[in-house]
Amino acid sequence: MSGGELVDGELTYESWKRALREGALIGQECTDCGHATGAPKAACARCGSRDLEAVELPTTGTVYSETTITVPPRQFTDDTYQVAIIELDTARVMARIDGTAEIGDEVRLQGTLEADDAPAPVFG
Ligand SMILES: [Zn+2]
Repeated sequence: MSGGELVDGELTYESWKRALREGALIGQECTDCGHATGAPKAACARCGSRDLEAVELPTTGTVYSETTITVPPRQFTDDTYQVAIIELDTARVMARIDGTAEIGDEVRLQGTLEADDAPAPVFG
């Protein structure tokens, strides 16, 4: 399945959110230099090209880096949580971790966590 079936035309934050809620991670690949990202961007972070193509990313990857965030227990029930950069093929996405994960761990997309109409991918 290609990203084009889930994303009608240009990848926007709205279409990215809609696909994520359906369990698909959509990224963008630069048609000029091949650089991939895990979230909608207006231009390629590497070469600045605006010629970006929506691609469906794999839903399993490895933890590239992780950090634990401590927040006052307002919005979420836990007062600490782990966020990580997940490497999916060539793209990297920022995600919440369900439980704990260490660098190099293989993780799978579990779903999304909604906060203020901003879904974040949850891996574990
Ligand atoms: Zn590029």
